[in-house]
Amino acid sequence: MNPSPATASLEETHGRPKFPQPPRGAEPAPSERLRAHEWLAKAIGLASPVADDVCRRPGGALNVVCPQCTTKNRVPAQRTAQDPHCGKCGAILLPAEPIDLSDLNFERVIAGTELPVVVDFHAHWCGPCRTMAPHFARAAEQAKGRALFVKVDSDASPATAARFAVRSIPTVVRLERGAEVERFSGVRSAADLVRFALG
Ligand SMILES: [Zn+2]
Repeated sequence: MNPSPATASLEETHGRPKFPQPPRGAEPAPSERLRAHEWLAKAIGLASPVADDVCRRPGGALNVVCPQCTTKNRVPAQRTAQDPHCGKCGAILLPAEPIDLSDLNFERVIAGTELPVVVDFHAHWCGPCRTMAPHFARAAEQAKGRALFVKVDSDASPATAARFAVRSIPTVVRLERGAEVERFSGVRSAADLVRFALG
């Protein structure tokens, strides 16, 4: 495995958000902040520092990076499960199935996405990976809008696999704001994966 930690740098782009935004500088009313905070805690299960940040923003919006064009979008917290689209390229930001990321876009997508991210490091020749694939897909569907399920081919993206020191596959890692929180290796059921995703 290539131990190089280098990742390609991507040009910064900023798309216009698809959702209407409240006036600049407007603080949400305390009751709205509380509602958004409670919703985030219960529905998404976000850790409180993220929820605090999100609830201070007008409209309680989460940052989500488009997996197709890597543009940062803001999605109202209550609408993460309603198929929000990228303001720049129109791709669905939080689909009901796992998305494939590579060394080229992994860092930017996971670092800028404020929902929990679950990464499956796999390879096409790995039997246990193939066994877990349908469970991983079902978990992505069940956790739609609450967590982003990502697949990384450890052969095709050696820098990302090396960064996470992946020694066996499948290895599944949960990230919050780009930082690893928890991991396991081996096959798990869809229900277990959903529980793992939501902490
Ligand atoms: Zn896009």
